[in-house]
Amino acid sequence: MAEQQQQQGEFDCIVVGAGVQGCFTAYQLAKNHQRTLLLEQFLLPHSRGSSHGQTRIIRKAYEQDFYTVMMEECYQLWAQLEKETNTTLFRRTGILVKGPEDDEEFQLFTETLRRNAVPTETLMPDEFQKRLPHMVLRSGEAAVIDTTAGVLYADRALKAAQSYFQSLGGVIKDGEKVLNIQPGSIVTVTTASGEYRAKRLVITAGPWANTLLAHTGLQLPLSVVKINVCYWREKVAGTYGVATRFPCFLQIASDGADYHIYGLPSNEYPGLVKICYHMGSDTEPDRRDRQKDQTDVNILSRFVSIFLPGLEPEPAVVESCLYTVTPDHHFVLDRHPSHSNIIIGAGFSGHGFKFGPIVGKLLCELSLGKVPSYDLSPFKIQRFQGHMKASL
Ligand SMILES: Cc1cc2nc3c(=O)[nH]c(=O)nc-3n(C[C@H](O)[C@H](O)[C@H](O)COP(=O)(O)OP(=O)(O)OC[C@H]3O[C@@H](n4cnc5c(N)ncnc54)[C@H](O)[C@@H]3O)c2cc1C
Repeated sequence: MAEQQQQQGEFDCIVVGAGVQGCFTAYQLAKNHQRTLLLEQFLLPHSRGSSHGQTRIIRKAYEQDFYTVMMEECYQLWAQLEKETNTTLFRRTGILVKGPEDDEEFQLFTETLRRNAVPTETLMPDEFQKRLPHMVLRSGEAAVIDTTAGVLYADRALKAAQSYFQSLGGVIKDGEKVLNIQPGSIVTVTTASGEYRAKRLVITAGPWANTLLAHTGLQLPLSVVKINVCYWREKVAGTYGVATRFPCFLQIASDGADYHIYGLPSNEYPGLVKICYHMGSDTEPDRRDRQKDQTDVNILSRFVSIFLPGLEPEPAVVESCLYTVTPDHHFVLDRHPSHSNIIIGAGFSGHGFKFGPIVGKLLCELSLGKVPSYDLSPFKIQRFQGHMKASL
């Protein structure tokens, strides 16, 4: 019976978008015995959205308690997927949070770490020099390591979540762009290949969120920015690798930079270290490659030449990725204001990957009408009142 319904395009739930958030939402729905269809516009895997690439940082270090608190369970959910799929998805390296000691933002990080009893290591200047001889700590700067942090293997994680979802009977249809959504007690979703119906819909379309939401009469204040993903060559191979215990890092308030600079130990490309600026230039998701602005690369070159003298100050490899940014840089995890069976996960503002498993759990809970496991008030659509364009 269930199989027949699936063949007729009928599901309990449809998830649109197979980035990290859609994959984990589909995985959670299938675990909750929902017949789930995951639709993706591109053939998988692809590199046109926000979730591609080999690595992401995972950390508890945040300015706000609500993120740090969710990460506690999130680490367990990552470990669970590792076990379920017999795959290594996480490597612990710690993350160095570094910035001017009297900077308000730096203090927010250290206070959140302390309040939530996150294991840390504070590096005084002489210890810093011994531990990280190839990184500069300027006078007036302080440094703390969140020792729980590390690297997530991103591409591998998506593959693991997708294959576990399929092993639970979930259906993935890639290369099927959603062209229309007809809200209602049964939602109808149209692609070039057919029509699908479900009691519930989850939209996790990353940079294309507003294109899809337009079919439902809603527009969120999201901006899409292109990030130049820069890899910097070591002058001496191995200087910034995990073998030398080089951690991930987050530099706060570097000269001429309004946003953080972050980096990961050398990993995906031998001898190259990934270091990016936490903001890019406005674009549209289907015109990403036309955005040629290099402002972020210039900020990074200056940072590398001052703080990481063991790297060549010109990027050796530059790739592209997209952020979908909300005005307050917090996520959107909410019900559609006019259609309660449509759930939205959007605006992950360049820091959503590490939360994938918990976002999946929360979107699944919202979709099933359960009380969410965490207070979702920071993520409500209502906070944008005044920023939003008219509904239908
Ligand atoms: C350079 C870079 C570095 C980052 N570093 C970190 C980090 O260190 N730690 C961290 O936690 N986060 C990090 N992030 C952020 C994180 O990767 C994103 O928040 C996350 O990947 C967002 O996932 P998503 O599923 O919302 O979007 P996406 O991955 O873009 O997925 C959306 C999917 O929806 C599909 N779609 C859209 N429209 C349709 C349609 N009409 N029909 C069918 N399918 C559709 C798209 O093709 C896409 O596959 C980084 C991001 C970038 C770009």
